[in-house]
Amino acid sequence: MLPRTPEETAAVVRALAAEGVAFVPRGAGTGLSGGTLPVGAPVMVCTSRLQAIEAIDVANRRVVVQAGVVNAWISAAVRGHGLHYAPDPSSQPACTIGGNVAENSGGPHTLKYGVTTNHVLGLELVLPSGEVVRLGGAVEERVGYDLVGLAVGAEGTFGLVTRATLRLVRNPEGYRTALAVFDSVEAASEAVSDVIAAGIVPAALEMMDRLIIGAVEAAYRIGLPTDAGAVLLVELDGPAAGLDGLLAEVDAVCRRRGAREVRVARDDAERAALWKARKRALGAVGRLAPSYCTQDGVVPRTKVPDILRAIAAAAERHRLRIGNVFHAGDGNIHPILLFDERNADECARVLAAGREILEACVALGGSVTGEHGIGVEKIAQMPLLFSPDDLLAMTRLRAVFDPEQRANPHKVFPDAKVCVETRTPRRQVPV
Ligand SMILES: Cc1cc2nc3c(=O)[nH]c(=O)nc-3n(C[C@H](O)[C@H](O)[C@H](O)COP(=O)(O)OP(=O)(O)OC[C@H]3O[C@@H](n4cnc5c(N)ncnc54)[C@H](O)[C@@H]3O)c2cc1C
Repeated sequence: MLPRTPEETAAVVRALAAEGVAFVPRGAGTGLSGGTLPVGAPVMVCTSRLQAIEAIDVANRRVVVQAGVVNAWISAAVRGHGLHYAPDPSSQPACTIGGNVAENSGGPHTLKYGVTTNHVLGLELVLPSGEVVRLGGAVEERVGYDLVGLAVGAEGTFGLVTRATLRLVRNPEGYRTALAVFDSVEAASEAVSDVIAAGIVPAALEMMDRLIIGAVEAAYRIGLPTDAGAVLLVELDGPAAGLDGLLAEVDAVCRRRGAREVRVARDDAERAALWKARKRALGAVGRLAPSYCTQDGVVPRTKVPDILRAIAAAAERHRLRIGNVFHAGDGNIHPILLFDERNADECARVLAAGREILEACVALGGSVTGEHGIGVEKIAQMPLLFSPDDLLAMTRLRAVFDPEQRANPHKVFPDAKVCVETRTPRRQVPV
């Protein structure tokens, strides 16, 4: 179903409710945990045609958008007012606000500015019964339970998001964007902890290792050092007066950890080239192998060196090539496991290595997803984090919104009724 307005969406859901039919919400389909896979739900309701930016309130720095508005459209629409929408997933030219809300998406600049939940003031939700509810509102302070906070990250299991009131952020007066070049990922990840420990919160702190640098450079030719073990992309923003001092501190911290070079973008064009390389890194990975699987986990920032060692060990144990490109400042890891999906043995090894990496994240005090959600892909890992009682409590909470479990059924929670078998990475089938 492709409704064109929030009202049509509610009408569709009412019709489904009358027949007791389950449905899968879908935005742009860029999700990376199988959240839009139709498992036991015969109807898919796409909110991608709900494309209106309904109100731009410059004075109060907020915007009301429909769920199908693409993330990057918002900043483009308010650029002239010196504002932007801060959460910036690398998929932002394609992914929609409905999907961002459902996944509580992050991005490179969420280190300083926070993830989606920190920028949603209010939501309009079509419950699976067809009833339309408004959670939160236009003002910052709310009384009562934080129902918006609850609905953000619900992965479509509370119903369909149709409208969102989002916070806008003032553009910083200036930026300094630098590329610190290291001989090893260990040194680069120690530098990440040191930068934060020095009291500096960069707007972004992103890491790419040698495998990824090679692929990105081959694709975009911006002069990345292909012999480096790792690079850190560091962005500082804020009042122009303080930026050079901060940059000097970051430079010193990186060099103390053995950075052989800290290149500073000289102008907007160089800054844009560095960000293009980072945000399109996944696209470049296609040069390295016929197939790849992007894992997603999170560890406390100080444990980044440990998890990178665990990833390298998993690669060796399972005879795989694994690259790393990730939001290092958040401890949010994205190991990229390269393989050929025509090779069944290699597929099995990728799945085993992915599981071991997630287990290592949990053992280090982290979690099985940093930003891509549970979907179907990580249902089996939920018991690593939650007791049966925890899971039951969450299922009961979900039932307040969706007592019949018709909105995105068989997602997020382990479910005795349906088994989703992962035969190859990213190719799950309901069985
Ligand atoms: C190249 C690439 C880079 C990426 N980079 C990042 C990144 O930096 N950070 C990050 O967090 N993610 C990233 N992602 C993952 C993905 O883009 C995000 O999860 C995004 O928010 C999904 O939005 P979508 O509109 O594509 O949603 P979809 O994929 O269509 O759906 C995702 C989930 O949201 C639910 N959903 C969708 N629309 C609605 C709605 N209107 N109401 C209720 N539920 C809904 C679906 O049921 C599903 O469970 C990346 C993906 C790709 C392909």
